[in-house]
Amino acid sequence: MAAPLSFAAPHCMSSMSPDPNTDPPPRSPLATGLSGRCPRCGEGKLFDGYLSPARACQSCGLDYGFADSGDGPAFFVMTAVGFLIVALALVVEIAWRPPYWVHAALWLPLLLGSALVLLRLMKGVLIAQQYATRAAEGRLDGSGG
Ligand SMILES: [Zn+2]
Repeated sequence: MAAPLSFAAPHCMSSMSPDPNTDPPPRSPLATGLSGRCPRCGEGKLFDGYLSPARACQSCGLDYGFADSGDGPAFFVMTAVGFLIVALALVVEIAWRPPYWVHAALWLPLLLGSALVLLRLMKGVLIAQQYATRAAEGRLDGSGG
């Protein structure tokens, strides 16, 4: 008889679980994410480049190997910016009926600028939330039980 499949519980991720004896008090995922700082200590940089996470925190040594926000930041930013830009473009079109080059001159820079700025902020927040909630991909637990 095959062992029943179950997903590993968060206690299996002890490498990123906070230790109350050595870890600093928990930080706000929103504050650390928006500032691009380490979700554990709030000091070290979270990003190595513009969007790529660093390997580990320079301050407390937290391994950022758990940080995988996937397509989450892109989805949220695309949805929010898309709704905003389309709504603004419709209002401008209905109110003034400008030529198409005016739409392109208005919305393309606003679209690119806001998406690039929000993408980094959203990625930081989602990685910090991932740390705070110990979220990770599900794994098969071979213990059978
Ligand atoms: Zn840190």
